[in-house]
Amino acid sequence: MEKIESQKGKSLLLIDGYRYRKDKDNNDGSTSLRCCREDGCRGRMKILNDNILSSIEHNHAPDPARNEAAKVVSTIRKRASRRSGKTATGNTVK
Ligand SMILES: [Zn+2]
Repeated sequence: MEKIESQKGKSLLLIDGYRYRKDKDNNDGSTSLRCCREDGCRGRMKILNDNILSSIEHNHAPDPARNEAAKVVSTIRKRASRRSGKTATGNTVK
């Protein structure tokens, strides 16, 4: 399970080659996740403290390669935001 940020700055979870976005926080402290695919996939996951409590199957195969690409985008975004933080202060931090 890996938490990343999408191009639009939303947090995503990568689990077993699938990408999930947060649906809602539940009263019992767990979190409901939904598959990012918008084409009718009913894939869902319920997690608590990074443990998977339950899941609903997807109607498509996992796509680890796409998740790797999403991770790269997330890393670049983080680097970019750190850089802009430095320029905002006008100082060179070593
Ligand atoms: Zn799915």
